[in-house]
Amino acid sequence: MNISNKLILWYERNKRELPFRSTKDAYRIWLSEVILQQTRVEQGLPYYYRFLESFPTVKHLAKASETEVLKLWQGLGYYSRGRNLLATAQHITKILHNKFPSNYLELKKLKGVGDYTAAAIASMAFNEPVFTVDGNVTRVLSRLFAEKTTPNSSVGKKVFQQLAENIGNKKFPGLHNQAMMELGALVCTPRNPKCEICPLQSHCLAYQQKQQLNFPVKSKKIKIKERHFCFIILLYRNKFYIRQRNGNDIWKNLYEFPLLETQTKISSASISKFAKNYGVTKYESGRTHIHKLTHQHIHASYIVAHLSKPISPKKFPELKAVDAEDFKNNFPHPRLIEKILSENNYFDLL
Ligand code: SF4
Repeated sequence: MNISNKLILWYERNKRELPFRSTKDAYRIWLSEVILQQTRVEQGLPYYYRFLESFPTVKHLAKASETEVLKLWQGLGYYSRGRNLLATAQHITKILHNKFPSNYLELKKLKGVGDYTAAAIASMAFNEPVFTVDGNVTRVLSRLFAEKTTPNSSVGKKVFQQLAENIGNKKFPGLHNQAMMELGALVCTPRNPKCEICPLQSHCLAYQQKQQLNFPVKSKKIKIKERHFCFIILLYRNKFYIRQRNGNDIWKNLYEFPLLETQTKISSASISKFAKNYGVTKYESGRTHIHKLTHQHIHASYIVAHLSKPISPKKFPELKAVDAEDFKNNFPHPRLIEKILSENNYFDLL
């Protein structure tokens, strides 16, 4: 039996039952693939259900506002995925007359759809023989073939794509792709591969060489950018002030408190100056959170000030006063803001 047949047989017996595995609907597969990028299945599943409930078809999604989509996406991170979902749904309804692209090359033209997602949809929904390479698949392939190329380099991407195609199943590409990913998620795991129950053990070079944990070969450490944030929570009566983020930065179009950002640790003198800008001289300081993203670490502190009069909308037109309930329900915001609000029970204190 070849690699793919063994893999599919194992998959049929051991796979987790997931709602998007039993469908050929490209919309549902696309939704699940975008949600599950960089996200664990347990974390992503409730989002998948909520999206499907709110937007059962691509047409429903296309009619949503960006705020609605970001609100549903809240807490999942990498918010550009949510914005791209909406842009793509609108493109499909308006330009493609509701017809979901049905092959790899056409799928790749969609915003936010790269090699991996296009291959996943094309193979699972349309049975096109194209093969997915994600983190799980890369790990399995690197170990199977003891492949020393670093997967993240441009050469590496080609090498791993070729390996995936070499063992891919042209008759059942969708099943094969899902089986590879499932093997990586359940058996060929990063730190403790369960080689004793692996269906591909007899083919695996890393196993034969007892080198499983040395694959995939790690790329040089990515440089992490350190950012220092200080938010100011301006409270007036039962409301606080927020603003919408813009520019091409993290959390684009989400809402947060007014912010001071620097590249080095923020001094107390800078914080006083920042507060003074809003007419604040007395404030309390909150604790610092370290929010880790793939390429950046955010050291986020905050101060809280009770105002005796409202903020002048003329001076600060970007600021909006909201109460806790309104903010919670209508303004998508990063998880960090949620944490800051809830750790001191600000919703209750207001
Ligand atoms: Fe991964 Fe072990 Fe299977 Fe090789 S034998 S593919 S290292 S689980």
